[in-house]
Amino acid sequence: MSNDTTASANNFLHAIIDEDLASGKHQEVVTRFPPEPNGFLHIGHAHSICVNFGLAMKYQGRCNLRFDDTNPEKESQEFIDAIQEDVKWLGFDWAGDVRYSSDYFDTLYDYAIYLIKAGNAYVCDLNAEQAKEYRGNLKQPGKNSPYRERSVEENLALFEKMRDGGFEEGACALRAKIDMSSPNMNMRDPIIYRIRKVPHHQTGDKWCIYPIYDFTHGQSDALEGITHSICTLEFEGHRPLYEWFIENLPVPSQPKQYEFSRLNINYTVTSKRKLKSLVDEGVVEGWDDPRMPTISGMRRRGYSAQALRNFSEMVGVNRAGGIVDMGMLEHAIRTDLNDNAPRAMCVMNAVKLSITNFDQAKAMDGVEMMTQPCHPNKPEMGERQLPFTETLYIDRADFTEDTTLSRKKFKRLVFGEYVRLRGGYVIKAEEVVKDEQGTITEIKASLVPGTVGETPPEGVKPRGVIHWVSATLAQKATVRIYERLFDHEAPDFGGRDYMAHLTDNSLHALEGCWVEPSLANTTPEQSFQFEREGYFVADRYEYGEGRLVFNKTISLVESKSKK
Ligand code: ATP
Ligand code: MG
Repeated sequence: MSNDTTASANNFLHAIIDEDLASGKHQEVVTRFPPEPNGFLHIGHAHSICVNFGLAMKYQGRCNLRFDDTNPEKESQEFIDAIQEDVKWLGFDWAGDVRYSSDYFDTLYDYAIYLIKAGNAYVCDLNAEQAKEYRGNLKQPGKNSPYRERSVEENLALFEKMRDGGFEEGACALRAKIDMSSPNMNMRDPIIYRIRKVPHHQTGDKWCIYPIYDFTHGQSDALEGITHSICTLEFEGHRPLYEWFIENLPVPSQPKQYEFSRLNINYTVTSKRKLKSLVDEGVVEGWDDPRMPTISGMRRRGYSAQALRNFSEMVGVNRAGGIVDMGMLEHAIRTDLNDNAPRAMCVMNAVKLSITNFDQAKAMDGVEMMTQPCHPNKPEMGERQLPFTETLYIDRADFTEDTTLSRKKFKRLVFGEYVRLRGGYVIKAEEVVKDEQGTITEIKASLVPGTVGETPPEGVKPRGVIHWVSATLAQKATVRIYERLFDHEAPDFGGRDYMAHLTDNSLHALEGCWVEPSLANTTPEQSFQFEREGYFVADRYEYGEGRLVFNKTISLVESKSKK
């Protein structure tokens, strides 16, 4: 799937893995993708999925899908289902069953007891405010908790009482006993278990204490035999803690954590929490709204899985950080669609065009079939039939009565002049019909016989090529056009209020569009290039019998107005 040279050049993890395999440290590469099921996955997660599953594929190893489910109040089955669907759609398959950190709650509980017995953990009664004060800060070392020297027996009894629901939430917590003066704040006796009297989507009412992420993640890795635990750079400072747990617990394997830069893209936000607020406040219609940078939103927008995988490859894996330009994602999308999307015609702002000399067409029963390739460079994609009839629709923007416009400026139909209908005849505009308001209701034109697929005769100089459909046989469609959700390049940078930077009207639904007849028989999620208009996709849910809804994926060329 991947181009190996670029992939290696862009991925420092390959060097690490190559060495681990060469030295015999590992025989097999085992990675994992560990989402918390507290929202739908976004473009950043897509990158992480490609990195983790991509490594497993490259080295013929395995990649697990593990739900990191230690915060039951924010998690749900809806998110678990959506995440699995997204991973599969992106083209990856996890090794064995789906896993959950909560599968290991019993073992983690035993590990906590193990730490207590080894004198490496204690139950602390400091409340949140006190704990904060005792913790110190980056300049000042922390102070030992007055509960730090509790005996093993007392700690075991208190921890058991925590588990049995004998304390209120926040009354106490289990902490690892490490070093309150460590320059790394994560090592200052971090909490490893806290009381939360909420049911869990996987374990139900079994637990009222839950392990903290840091106490869960590395041990889950070890239990699954993960060799390379890849995460984003914000966990770099947690690595010593990750290693401390692995060293101080009787875990069955020795995973190592490696960090790389988070993917950040301009003009969007990549945080499940912020995306959730867009859904909850009705800014978008749902997590899979085509304006969302979620995997399901991008899918509905018409981005292909292949294009997203290509994008991930282009971004690469590094530790340098930075913000990726939206143009890079759009480039990957456009390149993929240019190669793969069949062509079709759609008239979005229709005006009637009648052929005055239709009797000169080679029509049978009022229709002359024009044959066009589905793709200009890919004959293997086949051909399509375009019915040419006496009345057509063209786009209003493709006609003008202004005969002073230069040929260079306006390569479309001008009153009294010629233009070619894509795949069809050269025609000449001869008469314009208007209503009382002066709006053009019909253009009358004559066709030049013998010009289908042929150079026009001397003196007939079409200004350009325009798209068209048969007014009698075209199908009515709704086309939805999307703007960027945010009008600011960095909508949430430095705590900026992203809600204040929403684009007004980021969705325009055009109801009266006309598509060529074959588009009534395509399938949801099929992409097209609507010639001269852009790339569009049949909506995953709303395209169907009797209702043809297409979403605009992206324009044909990068627009210059937007950076
Ligand atoms: P969010 O803030 O959106 O909830 P998260 O990192 O908390 O993101 P998780 O579900 O915990 O979300 O992430 C699962 C995996 O995806 C983690 O390994 C995380 O590092 C990775 N990940 C999340 N966001 C990005 C991103 N922007 N770029 C690369 N990897 C990411
Ligand atoms: Mg998270």
